[in-house]
Amino acid sequence: MTVSWTPHRFSGGLLALDAANTVVLRGDVERSFDRFADPAEIARFAAAASVFRADELGGRALAAADVHAIHGKVIAIREATDRLFRRGVLDGVLAAADLSPFLTACAEGLAGSAETFGLDTPFGAGAGPLAFEAALAVSALSLMRPEHLGRLRICPNCNWLFIDRSRNGSRLWCDMAVCGNRQKARRHYRRIKQEADDA
Ligand SMILES: [Zn+2]
Repeated sequence: MTVSWTPHRFSGGLLALDAANTVVLRGDVERSFDRFADPAEIARFAAAASVFRADELGGRALAAADVHAIHGKVIAIREATDRLFRRGVLDGVLAAADLSPFLTACAEGLAGSAETFGLDTPFGAGAGPLAFEAALAVSALSLMRPEHLGRLRICPNCNWLFIDRSRNGSRLWCDMAVCGNRQKARRHYRRIKQEADDA
């Protein structure tokens, strides 16, 4: 079954986090699954990200023509990104043991690329389509910026990583309309059930 790449699936706020969030319910051994298990989904994700991440990408499209060739690199960057920054949020530190494989995976994504990157807006320097694995690597590396590190969060409902861009830095959910409401509905259901049990 193909994935419907809805705006909600781009709640991470950065390409690298949206990619990290393609593993659903991380840490839940029984229910977790990988939306990139079918490599063809990488191309469909890249097409959707070209629209939903247009700001970050400077309006350039992502190109993922040979998904089988890049599948391994993409998964390596995605997993190393999630490991490094999830621990960063949970423990408040970036571990050298996670940083080293992260940098290696990003280097693999960039190896052989002739792309150049701008100093202010990384993807604004060039023109034409961006190789997806190189863009993913640069997006992941941009998470090392202090303004991103200080705003990294984990959604308490779905476990996704996201950047909190709210003014006062108090955003709780990756997507209020989805995760915030689910939590509210759950609380409501529990209260109704409790009242019924008490009656
Ligand atoms: Zn969420």
